[in-house]
Formats: sequence, C-alpha cells, structure tokens
Amino acid sequence: MSSGDLFRYPDELGPAFSETNGLEFSNGRQVSAAEIWKFMTKEAPVRFPYAFDKSVHFAGRISSDVNFLSGIKRSFLSLTLRDRMLDAHKNGVPVVLVQGGQTVEPYYAAGGIPLRPGFVMNWARTMKEGLNLRESDLRGMSILEEGRKGVTIEACNQIAAHSAVQDNIVPVDFVAPYLCLRCSDMAYLVESHRHGKRTVPTYLVDHPIDHNPGEWKKEYLKKELETLTGKIGELSNKEVTDEALRAEIKRENKARELVRDCYEIWWNAKVPPTNSVDHSGIVPFGVDGCGDYSASTRVLEETREELKERVKHGVKGAGLKDDPSRLYICGSCVGPNPFLVDKAGAVVVGKDDFWSEASTIVKETGDPYENLAEAILSFPYERSTEGRAEWTAEQAQKSRADGVIFMFNWGCNFQTSVARMISDIIKDRTGLPTTYVEVGELGRMEALEQSHNRVEAFIEMLN
Ligand code: SF4
Repeated sequence: MSSGDLFRYPDELGPAFSETNGLEFSNGRQVSAAEIWKFMTKEAPVRFPYAFDKSVHFAGRISSDVNFLSGIKRSFLSLTLRDRMLDAHKNGVPVVLVQGGQTVEPYYAAGGIPLRPGFVMNWARTMKEGLNLRESDLRGMSILEEGRKGVTIEACNQIAAHSAVQDNIVPVDFVAPYLCLRCSDMAYLVESHRHGKRTVPTYLVDHPIDHNPGEWKKEYLKKELETLTGKIGELSNKEVTDEALRAEIKRENKARELVRDCYEIWWNAKVPPTNSVDHSGIVPFGVDGCGDYSASTRVLEETREELKERVKHGVKGAGLKDDPSRLYICGSCVGPNPFLVDKAGAVVVGKDDFWSEASTIVKETGDPYENLAEAILSFPYERSTEGRAEWTAEQAQKSRADGVIFMFNWGCNFQTSVARMISDIIKDRTGLPTTYVEVGELGRMEALEQSHNRVEAFIEMLN
C-alpha cells in the first residue's frame, strides 16, 4: 500500500554530489552531476511521485542509501528512460521490444535500442506524469488487462508490455526478441502483433532447443542474428558492418567485466557493502545498458570505485541488519522485494538470470556473428535443466549464500516446470536450504503480501 509519504534526498548532499562526474550519452549529449541532482530532487518528484513513495511494499522505490552516489545516477537513468526513448524514436532510432537473457549487441550495432518488457511497462506507466503509487499501479493494471482481453488471460504479466505497444501508448518500432528456452509466452506474444490493433513489424530470433552439441546450431543462430541486424538496419537506415558489431561486442564486454569486478568485490567483502536494491541494480546495467551503454558503463565504473572504498572502510549498505542472511535468487523476470528482504534481516547476493549473461564474455576477434552465436549457445541459464542447476549451485556457493529462493511468475510455464527440480539439485549439491515461490503479481506495485509472506518466512528460518 502507498505510504503517501515521499522520499527526499538530503539537501546537504547536493554540493558533494554535484562535484562528481557527469554522464555522457551515446548521442554526445552531456549532463553534469549538478543537473542530475536537480532532476532527482526537483523535477522527478513532481513528474514521477510514485517512484519516491516510501512504502516498503513498493519494490521499485528509490534506494535509501543516499551516500551510494552511483546508485543515484542509476535511478536518474531509469527515470529519464521515458524522455530518452521518446527523443530516440523522434530522431529515427528504432526502439525494439525484446526479451531478457540474451546479448543485445546486434540491436545496438544496427542502430536500435533494445528494451526488455519490464522497461517498456515502466515507460508506459510514465507516459502519464504526476501519478502517485496507487494511480501508477492502477494504470499499469489497466494496460495489463487490455493485453489479457486482446490475447489471453493465461499469459504471464509481461503481456502488459505488448499491450502498451498495441495500444500505441509507447512508440515501439519493432518487436524482435529471442525465442529462448527460458520463456513459454514470448513466441505467441510476438505472433499477437500480426493481427492486433496496430501492425508492428516483428521478428523472432529462433534459438535452437536442443542441448546436444552440434556445429549446425552455431551456423543456424548466426544466420538468425544476421537477419536480425539486417531488419533493424532497414529501420535505422544503417548498414551494419562486421566492424560495427565487433566494436559493440567490445563495448559490452567492458560492461560485463565491470559487473564481474563489482560482484567479486561484493561477494568477497566481510560486510555487504550495499543493500539489496543497490546490489540488484548492478547486473541489469551491465547486460542491457538502460537504453544507453555510454552512460551506463560510466555509472558502473563509479559503482566499482565506490564498492572498493566501502569495502576498504568496512561500510555496510544502508538499511541492512548486522550479519544479514545471504539470499541467492533464481528464476526469470521476478525477484523478491529488496526492501522487505533487508527489513526481514537478509540481503540479496545474486540472481542467476542476468548473471548468466554477464558472466559470459564474447570473443572479440574473428566473425562477430559466429562469436555471438557461440556465446549465446553457451549461456549457463539456457543449458539443460540439470546443467543450469549445477552452474547455479556453484554461483550460490561463490556468493556465500545461506539460502536459495526460486521465484516464478504465474503463467510462466517453463520456469514453473523447472523450479522444483532446480531447487532440489541445488540443495543436493550445496546443502543449502532452498524454496520456490510462485508470484502472481509481476508488474504490480502494491498488494503483494502473499509472496512477501513466503519470502519472509524463509528468511526467518535462515536467521
Ligand atoms: S515470466 Fe516467463 S513466460 Fe513471462 S516473459 Fe518472463 S520468462 Fe517469459
């Protein structure tokens, strides 16, 4: 429920924040730290008051760790997504609705901007400004219901992103996700655009569903990726050269390396240097760039330096209890509310989904399409269920987790069907307590008590 009380950054932090580095975007636009501060303290609370709601039940609220300055810049990039995407679309840059878990180099190299469903859902909510948490939640639910009416009530809640495209709430130019193993609904959600209210060009990058080794898979996926860049290039009016794709691979390898550095520092720290919300934000930045890799890489560099400083001085993330239980999270598209995790005496130390991608470096020399296909086919999250579980068990141990929660979204048939087996294998290999939780409220901002109660009960058992 909404607290009605809005979070504010302390005024006295302004001068120190304003002396830090600003950000430069891929289109050359620069923004100073003083301008970021002004946006976050004056403009954003008026335009997007919901984001500043202090309700602990709202998973998307701003981190209370005001001294973690790169976290403020990350929130700035999230809250400016709406304006940046509208500008990009206006300037002929195709905005593409994709799915999580796969590399995004082909989209950026071809002059587009890929956005996962969660980003598109947030963008759609913010197309109406000045909404409080309750109003924003109701707006999100009504977009979702339109999608259910138009396609099926059985789809997972990511259907809201497709509905926002169909209803022209957000000007997405192309729908082109990977048909990867994790996802039961993406294929027919893409199909739904063929006969919907608005005709949107679509392409489904086929991912071979076959765990047996074979060179044919690499060749097949390589061709799929070539077709993808060709189609985006037609929209952006850009010829996609191998050189451009190689440069993009290098850029994103750098971001993935930064994420890996941050995780190594975080996992080896005596006390957790950030709270769950700041920790959970690191990997998504490295694997999809929040719509702009130049700016997000700069933020990641600052995050790495801040983490080093915090670890050196033994600083604990704001809002954490002493010696919190460490939780490793599994599953696609959902996770526990980080604020409630911290409040209950735990901290999130990792998540398999995004980490699978961040921990896979793509070869930088040779045929870039072949290199991408090879990397995509080796993602640990997309291995056989047993292979995925073995890898996840290793990550849980490396992160020094005390327990593992597998969460899956209602309507997500693939994750639902593997949750029990993966949880059991992890428990068998590590001896860690595990549990699995179905979530019926993906995309909701309020009334999430049911899944919260189950997460809290598991934490209580660990503490
Ligand atoms: S929740 Fe499952 S079905 Fe829905 S988009 Fe995510 S992976 Fe696909």
